[in-house]
Amino acid sequence: MIEIKTDLSVDAMRAAGRVVAQALAAVRSAARVGVTLRTLDATAHAVLREAGAGSPFLGYHPEFAPGPFPAVLCVSVNDAIVHGVPDDYRLRDGDLVSADFGAILNGWAGDSAISFTVGRPRPEDLHLIDTAERALAAGIAAAVVGNRISDIAHAVGRVCRREGYGIPDGFGGHGIGRAMHEDPGVPNEGRPGRGVPLRHGMALAIEPMVIAGGGDGYYAAPDGWTLRTLDGSRAAHAEHTIAITHAGPRILTAL
Ligand code: MG
Ligand code: MG
Repeated sequence: MIEIKTDLSVDAMRAAGRVVAQALAAVRSAARVGVTLRTLDATAHAVLREAGAGSPFLGYHPEFAPGPFPAVLCVSVNDAIVHGVPDDYRLRDGDLVSADFGAILNGWAGDSAISFTVGRPRPEDLHLIDTAERALAAGIAAAVVGNRISDIAHAVGRVCRREGYGIPDGFGGHGIGRAMHEDPGVPNEGRPGRGVPLRHGMALAIEPMVIAGGGDGYYAAPDGWTLRTLDGSRAAHAEHTIAITHAGPRILTAL
């Protein structure tokens, strides 16, 4: 069932989304060569505490996972696509980092992800990240009253495929509200004009993931969480929580 939010609820989600944006900005500035992924998680956690917000990631235990997620931040480096667990890995020069973060504030959730490089960037990584961001922008632009869910998917997928990048099969965005994951699913690829019509008050997380090598395959690392590219190439991820309004898409997880 798709829950339609009131304008007041969307305002409340915007407050949660701002906390997410602040945490990701803090993670980005803390991410330097030699810093551990655990430190990035602690950085994000401090922002949550400061805001009096909770984490929808910490303790999250979906069916596919071996146990509850042990952190507030997913951090996926290089060939890791999503769901990376913060550990003692120290960031190296030229790493490509994807950071995915959620917050719950006053009962409402926000969910967003950014990708960035550490130290001296490889030009191909910058292009990969730029493509994920452009795919996200295209998906958001398609999130308008009168369109359908698959118009978002189509817009996202087109930008990624045009560059020859892979799109991990079966992963995508989702409805969001009091829970981090709600109906409907928002695929990252598909034919336009299908699925539920978009309505004022729908809140969605749109989240393109791109694989540099062009394959769509992935596998779960031994930790049971981290998804890595099958071809070993690098991946990037970008995500915003948005609300569909009569005035156009409203980004809830911007600063
Ligand atoms: Mg996310
Ligand atoms: Mg999400």
